[in-house]
Amino acid sequence: MADILHNLQIIQNRIDLACAKANRSREEVRLLLATKTVTADRILTAMQAGYTLIAENKVQEVKEKFDALKDFSHISHFIGHLQTNKIKDLLKCNVSCIQSLDRLDLAEKLQSRLEKENKDIDVFIQVNTSEEESKFGIHPDQAEDLVRRVAELDRINIKGLMTIGLFSADLDKVRLCYQLLNRLRKEIQVPGVELKELSMGMSGDLEIAIEEGATIVRVGTAIFGQRIYPDSYYWNEG
Ligand SMILES: *Cc1c(COP(=O)(O)O)cnc(C)c1O
Repeated sequence: MADILHNLQIIQNRIDLACAKANRSREEVRLLLATKTVTADRILTAMQAGYTLIAENKVQEVKEKFDALKDFSHISHFIGHLQTNKIKDLLKCNVSCIQSLDRLDLAEKLQSRLEKENKDIDVFIQVNTSEEESKFGIHPDQAEDLVRRVAELDRINIKGLMTIGLFSADLDKVRLCYQLLNRLRKEIQVPGVELKELSMGMSGDLEIAIEEGATIVRVGTAIFGQRIYPDSYYWNEG
């Protein structure tokens, strides 16, 4: 497990440097551990070192690790494509924020489930800034309308925007995605909604995301090592 602690230190340094370079306060940027395929004992190693913001992509995995992690104080987000028939299971696992809300029917079903359980939840609106077919997220042109409609659902608190950047070695193109998300945050004006959070940036491009305004970077591989399947596998639930 020494590898995990070592890797976390490297990521910390990268975030520190990126904040300094972008003239941003270090407190503005949170590190979220993307823990898909990572076993609970490895996640616990990171938690015990003080890294307590984690997120999964699949409801099944959230459920599988829930018992092993529940006694350790942490914050659990969801960052995968969410099917409406899995909402109930997800809510059982004390997930405090769904970062991947990308369509109205999902929001409406979430609202009605939350009403039944007398709960509420934080969400980010996921925007498809790269316009790749394989990725989820609302089209940028429709993001404001979705924010407006979701804002009417009283159990759902919109905290910000999330995106998965273009999967490309061309970092200038990746940057355009993050700039677009930041621009949307400023442009979208809906009464009662403050889009404070921008969740963007992963292992390979977190510096760019921080330069463009990220408040949460989501890091998996650079901390826990390579996964066996390509990311598209985890982004297509079902
Ligand atoms: C896996 C995943 C990440 C982390 O990606 P890495 O390249 O492993 O850092 C971030 N966001 C989402 C939505 C993911 O599925």
